[in-house]
Amino acid sequence: PNPASSNFLRGIIDSDLASGKHTQRKDQSGQPLPTVITRFPPEPNGYLHIGHAKSICLNFGLARDYAGRCNLRFDDTNPTKEEQEYVDTIIDSVQWLGFDWQDQGGELRFASDYFDQFYAMAEYLITAGHAYVDSQSADDMAKNRGNFSEPGKNSPFRDRPAEESLDLFRRMKAGEFKDGEHIVRAKIDMASPNMNMRDPAIYRIRHAHHHRTGDKWCVYPMYDFAHPLEDAIENVTHSICTLEFQDHRPFYDWVLERLAEGGFFTKPLPNQYEFARLNLTYAITSKRKLLQLVEENIVDGWDDPRMPTIVGIRRRGYTPEAIQLFADRIGVAKADSWIDMSILEGALRDDLDEKAPRAIAVLRPLKLIIDNFPEGETVECSAPVHPHHPERGVRTFPISKELWIEQEDYMEVPSKGYFRLFPGNKVRLRYGYVVECTGADKDADGNITAVHCTYFPDSKSGTEGANNYKVKGNLHWVSAAHALEAEVRMYDRLFSDPHPDAGGKDFKQALNPNSKEVITAYLEQGMSSAKPDDKFQFERHGYFVADRVDSKDGKPVFNRAVTLKDGWGK
Ligand code: ATP
Ligand code: MG
Ligand code: MG
Repeated sequence: PNPASSNFLRGIIDSDLASGKHTQRKDQSGQPLPTVITRFPPEPNGYLHIGHAKSICLNFGLARDYAGRCNLRFDDTNPTKEEQEYVDTIIDSVQWLGFDWQDQGGELRFASDYFDQFYAMAEYLITAGHAYVDSQSADDMAKNRGNFSEPGKNSPFRDRPAEESLDLFRRMKAGEFKDGEHIVRAKIDMASPNMNMRDPAIYRIRHAHHHRTGDKWCVYPMYDFAHPLEDAIENVTHSICTLEFQDHRPFYDWVLERLAEGGFFTKPLPNQYEFARLNLTYAITSKRKLLQLVEENIVDGWDDPRMPTIVGIRRRGYTPEAIQLFADRIGVAKADSWIDMSILEGALRDDLDEKAPRAIAVLRPLKLIIDNFPEGETVECSAPVHPHHPERGVRTFPISKELWIEQEDYMEVPSKGYFRLFPGNKVRLRYGYVVECTGADKDADGNITAVHCTYFPDSKSGTEGANNYKVKGNLHWVSAAHALEAEVRMYDRLFSDPHPDAGGKDFKQALNPNSKEVITAYLEQGMSSAKPDDKFQFERHGYFVADRVDSKDGKPVFNRAVTLKDGWGK
């Protein structure tokens, strides 16, 4: 394990390894089991977001570093909210992040595959006197639950004979009752200070079609009952979840202890450990609110490059390596906190700086005319694909009489410290020639329509003459006749408030009105061969990716992934 990404969970695993807690375990066929088994257990009811990515990196990362396994398990016990579409995108996102559940014999699992086992275990709990069928109305049940300052009251059905509960449970399963008429509850303690231990429900009636089991079942297990059973069935050693489940842990342990007594499971049983969920500034990570952004067309779908969904950040230009780097850098805490968006953006810069080929893009074009350049002629210029990696070769592009430069690279009256183009000033056209500005054309309204200059033929970059010119400005440009015209989407943060939904705020009031600007830019001609998902550093501007959805052969569309520097809020 990498000591740099050490965390309290690694500490727990290390001490379990030292004590040999999990070393003797075998699976049903007698094969030894890995000493670390984790799982990533999404409910297939939405798209994964950056918070899930943290959990994926954590669970799969632990399995990888300890030669263990991590199952991808769909927690599909709630029939009404789950869909195959979500299963497919979740599988795709986990694989894209670079993890493989098949490592060390891990598997793709569905909680719904265990429905028969869950049912048998519930029957056992009833038979053993640890559970009962409650027939109170929902209102009475809520009233009798008590509250934090008052103990609850036992249900009048709590002590009904086990045979009667068992008969009712079987008839619930056979479809004799309507939703809510009966419910199965664990028999624990209605006076417990932990509300989760006041006879929690374990099975309910739901006449609903399930995306995998169809209409086979009309009783479904509650999440708190199913989750520990799923973990135990899969021989999970360390069941990692977010902090809000801390108060559910006693029930997790209670259920597994009872079922171990019944011979369903052998010890050591799985243990639940809680970590702080990821809260990211300038973003929201609630599935419900993300759905609202999509449904109200505030964004262009789940994979809008401004969305914190995995499909969104992927389309934005994020790499799996950048996300893993981010997860390592933020670590795993035991208390809730906010992680600044600049850490995520910084991880992308750090990953792409080494990888991304360089290219020239003029985003806010202004014509530059080299008056003494021969009409119709071109001279080839070259630049390294990557400044620190000469082995990656060079790119070539022509210079000609008319170029595109950035509007901000010309000022009629220069401000203090401005050393780009203004009348009488010399600059270098990067990878090309030194030019001297001679003036500009204006339209009737006084807007600048073209800048004029003359060039020094002996000043070309890479030639000896270049050394005779000392200039401060070094401008990027593309040849107007050769440049690729392309749509570029200048994405920025979706929210302008660091905590868009904190304290019950309406996150729609916190939207950044400038989070998407679509422009037409002129790119270095070689960019026409960019393939979807190809990433580049556009010199001086930032990192950009060829959009994986809208790019066409020879006609890429680019998304700004991140600027070169963290200039936000400055
Ligand atoms: P719901 O919105 O339905 O409560 P959820 O956000 O909890 O869903 P799940 O599909 O149940 O999503 O989550 C799968 C796993 O991802 C869980 O183990 C959960 O702890 C983890 N997870 C979800 N959100 C975050 C987050 N913001 N930070 C870290 N882990 C998260
Ligand atoms: Mg959940
Ligand atoms: Mg959630």
